[in-house]
Amino acid sequence: MFEMDTIAAISTPLGEGAISIIRLSGKDAIAITNKLFQNKDLNEVNSHTIHYGKMIEPSTKQMIDEVLVSVMRAPKTFTCEDVVEINCHGGLVAVNRMLELVLEHGARLAEPGEFSKRAFLNGRIDLSQAEAVMDIIQSKTSEAMNVAMHQLDGKLSKLITDLRQQLIETIAHVEVNIDYPEYDDVEEMSLEMMDERTEYVHEKIERLLQVANQGKILREGIKTAIIGRPNVGKSSLLNSLAQEDKAIVTDVPGTTRDTIEEYVNVRGIPLHLIDTAGIRETEDIVEKIGVEKSRKILQEADLVLFMLNYNDELTDEDREIFHMLEGLPHIVIVNKSDLSNRLDINEVRSLAGEQHVIEMAVIAEEGIDRLEDALSDLFMKESLSAGDMTYVSNVRHIQLLKEAKRTLEDAQEALQMQMPLDMIQIDVTRTWELLGEIIGDTASESLIDQLFSQFCLGK
Ligand code: GDP
Repeated sequence: MFEMDTIAAISTPLGEGAISIIRLSGKDAIAITNKLFQNKDLNEVNSHTIHYGKMIEPSTKQMIDEVLVSVMRAPKTFTCEDVVEINCHGGLVAVNRMLELVLEHGARLAEPGEFSKRAFLNGRIDLSQAEAVMDIIQSKTSEAMNVAMHQLDGKLSKLITDLRQQLIETIAHVEVNIDYPEYDDVEEMSLEMMDERTEYVHEKIERLLQVANQGKILREGIKTAIIGRPNVGKSSLLNSLAQEDKAIVTDVPGTTRDTIEEYVNVRGIPLHLIDTAGIRETEDIVEKIGVEKSRKILQEADLVLFMLNYNDELTDEDREIFHMLEGLPHIVIVNKSDLSNRLDINEVRSLAGEQHVIEMAVIAEEGIDRLEDALSDLFMKESLSAGDMTYVSNVRHIQLLKEAKRTLEDAQEALQMQMPLDMIQIDVTRTWELLGEIIGDTASESLIDQLFSQFCLGK
């Protein structure tokens, strides 16, 4: 285990809340807290216990807050070090003062992700699990959180470790073969084994990549664009979806307000509504920002909700949009079914082809269930559930898996061409390394630093 200094940070989101937690980790975590804590000697208490008391400023004896202090001794803690969590009840000022005091008495302000980094360095979790911690913090839906929880659980790590084991065994076999060329049968066995094992690993990687897209959907939501002429009811639909207390509006820190993103959870399917600012403010994306930009938005979208209006005839512009939508998953919504019919629904159906056409009266909340049915039909076929699958949803992992797959295919090709075993072994070894990077086994130090710096402070 690494001997490291004591770090501290506010681990709860900044802002007004009933409780805020300051977390300390390191060899002096308990001693530092004890200097500020009145009522009890924390050095004497049992591990994994919680204690009520007052935090005071030692020089002035002024009380800062009434607190509950959890004391957790190494090694059974998140970081494998002594950990103290101070539950503060006062407002922001008290919490900040408390953090200052802790820092004045020997702790250092933690860097973003440093708690998780310590857990990783101390062997408590592997890299993919550490990344899962970050995913859990950032997950927008409960399903996405389940995926991350599974990863934290080590499901992915276990699978990757198994695949690497398969590869290392073949590598070892080839080593024997090279070192003892006099045994002919070893050569044959090596080739056969190499063929078998690489095929096995290749299959598993392929399966992981196949479901990765679903993992991505769970994690990031289905990027959904709502388009249509002005006044068809786009923002009404948005509001209606958002109303049913399904929407989470997140303001991505450090960005401007037009990147406000909205997430709507429809029967467990996370929709990530893109360009909602465009809908709400400019009323109509196609008209105000031009066909080019809307083409761009469409390119980004995994799903398009194209709205028409019962009360209006189809225009050439609408027909053009139908063409733009070719090849993209979309749902055609014919809104305002409560009004008199001026639309040629048969033409709409033929333009929509295989795609869903649903009738709605958004204003009367009519037809929302039909929209939900259509969404389920499109996205729930291979039911999006985190329970029984190992999903890879992290972009870095997907990249590494793709690279590993390619390298493995190189090895297989070389096998087919009966290249010398030691040549093939280079590719197999490289695959083993690439897979190792997923769990942080062969990851370089700079990569590790960069990954952990993406974490929130206090994690
Ligand atoms: P947008 O410009 O496409 O975003 O359209 P809005 O959502 O702003 O709606 C334009 C107008 O149509 C508003 O006055 C809505 O109240 C109205 N509207 C929306 N949905 C319906 C509907 O189902 N029936 C009727 N009669 N009016 C609707």
